[in-house]
Amino acid sequence: MIRQLLCRLVVSNTLRVCVFTYIVINTISCAHLSRWIGPLIKGEPAIFNASCPAQLEKKYAALTIDDGPSDEHMRNILKVLAENQATATFFVTGAEAEKRRALLIDIVNAGHELANHTYTDIASKKLSVEEARASLAQTHALIEDFNPVRYVRPAKGSYGKVFADIAGSEPFNYELVLGDMYTLDHLIEWSAWHNFLISRSTLNGSVIILHDSADRRRGERTTKVLSYVLPKLKRRGFEIVSLNALAEVCELRKR
Ligand SMILES: [Zn+2]
Repeated sequence: MIRQLLCRLVVSNTLRVCVFTYIVINTISCAHLSRWIGPLIKGEPAIFNASCPAQLEKKYAALTIDDGPSDEHMRNILKVLAENQATATFFVTGAEAEKRRALLIDIVNAGHELANHTYTDIASKKLSVEEARASLAQTHALIEDFNPVRYVRPAKGSYGKVFADIAGSEPFNYELVLGDMYTLDHLIEWSAWHNFLISRSTLNGSVIILHDSADRRRGERTTKVLSYVLPKLKRRGFEIVSLNALAEVCELRKR
């Protein structure tokens, strides 16, 4: 009887330790976590990641960089991408894009893609119907000559049905894109945190989010993080591509 009780106690404690360890490991692994949480998030559907055929020789992840282009860091970011044969989708704000057309040309000439991040980085949920339309249209007009503009990321990732409806209908017909590999890089200044999570937790079909801005040295951090994670991901069999390139080989998933 005592032996049975002891046995049960050991088993239940072991089980608890296993469950706890599993939760901790997966909690720090943002990609896994957001793959679970994504379907539970209520609200308008957005693309978080892609489903890639398992038989492909390589794994694929899309790299997306928000808030640029900045004078201070964009060229360094482009250099690191070129050194690692990676391409990206740049979600630019209209306010930054209109000041730096030469940088937009450099981005596109290097094989990357431009997408809409509204005119300023004010949470898209706060915009009225007229403001949302104007913000999207102004930014669209600044980048539409460079490539077909297919994707929008709401500013601060914050949006509601009003913004989603405007972005998804004529004349924009955008796909709303969030991402599943987001390490709070615009808040956490410790590069090692982002290096660890992105290099370890990126999954086949992940959409990685980083930022380019002189504000709080975000662009400088992105340059550092990319220098670390791109070779690591390559060693794990990944090709890092723009959203459009990801959509060519994998199926972008909305939820
Ligand atoms: Zn932003």
